[in-house]
Amino acid sequence: MVVNQLVTLLRHFADTPMITGTTRLYGIIGHPIGHVRVPMTFNERFARDGIDAVSIPFDTTPERLADAIRGLRALENLGGFVVTAPHKQAMVALCDEVVGAAKLVGAINTVRRDPDGRLVGDLFDGQGFVRGLLAHGHVLAGKRVFLNGAGGAGNAVAFALARAGVAAITIHNRTESRAADLVQRLARAYPKCTVATGPKDARGFDIAANATSVGLKDDELSFDVGALAPSTLVAEVIMKPEKTALILAAEARGLAAQLGKHMLDYQMDLMFEFMRIGPV
Ligand code: NAP
Repeated sequence: MVVNQLVTLLRHFADTPMITGTTRLYGIIGHPIGHVRVPMTFNERFARDGIDAVSIPFDTTPERLADAIRGLRALENLGGFVVTAPHKQAMVALCDEVVGAAKLVGAINTVRRDPDGRLVGDLFDGQGFVRGLLAHGHVLAGKRVFLNGAGGAGNAVAFALARAGVAAITIHNRTESRAADLVQRLARAYPKCTVATGPKDARGFDIAANATSVGLKDDELSFDVGALAPSTLVAEVIMKPEKTALILAAEARGLAAQLGKHMLDYQMDLMFEFMRIGPV
């Protein structure tokens, strides 16, 4: 027993990168913050690639966000940070420059701190979702998509799918006005993609995706998969639990299913590139 504990302890120290005076900082800011996977995934990659950097969580309430950002700007050894709920929209006004998908969607999930303290924000959620699907061999061009959710994740996913060349997206959202608003902005940005609001019914689509938070805490289904055609791909944005009730139901029916964790995994390269993280 004691030997086992000793072995575990030694393994822990062997795997823990040394933090020194030269170590660069990369945070993730949100509230609450306990559920995030970024510190683990970033630190594993730093250790694997021999990068002298560490990822740490920053827990900040919306009321103190502007104060926190002012402080982060002043940290010379901060390379950037990931932004999560509930700060993704508020971060737009706190950056000096907003680029890429963040400009279209109006939300930021990655901020780079330039050496002069300028903060530049972009959004990679949607691209991560799309890259994950493509990397698993799914075809997007010309497909018809049902999307439940028009919040932050729904917006990011919808814009990225349209950019990836899907033929049509039908969006449902509990609060109808949010779906209608997203459809309007999407149609303006991607006129070749047929976009519409619709009922919570995923039948008749090639891809059916959940971009709501339904499935985070309970076993409630984002939408019914019982009558979907066997060729339908069911995709999820929720990372924890790794397999939501929706994914389990899809798998039980023998449908192809894409997990939410892939959305983060496949945006890591994009985030690293944007924050200019690399071996020194
Ligand atoms: P958000 O902006 O607050 O939007 C929440 C969405 O869920 C809205 O569409 C909301 O509908 C809907 N919703 C919440 N409770 C509902 C309920 N009981 N019934 C029906 N709809 C409900 O949050 P978000 O940023 O989009 O995040 C949504 C989920 O995506 C979270 O679980 C988050 O962790 C996940 N996410 C994953 C990744 C990734 O990399 N895998 C990235 C981003 C987000 P209303 O508009 O009606 O409120």
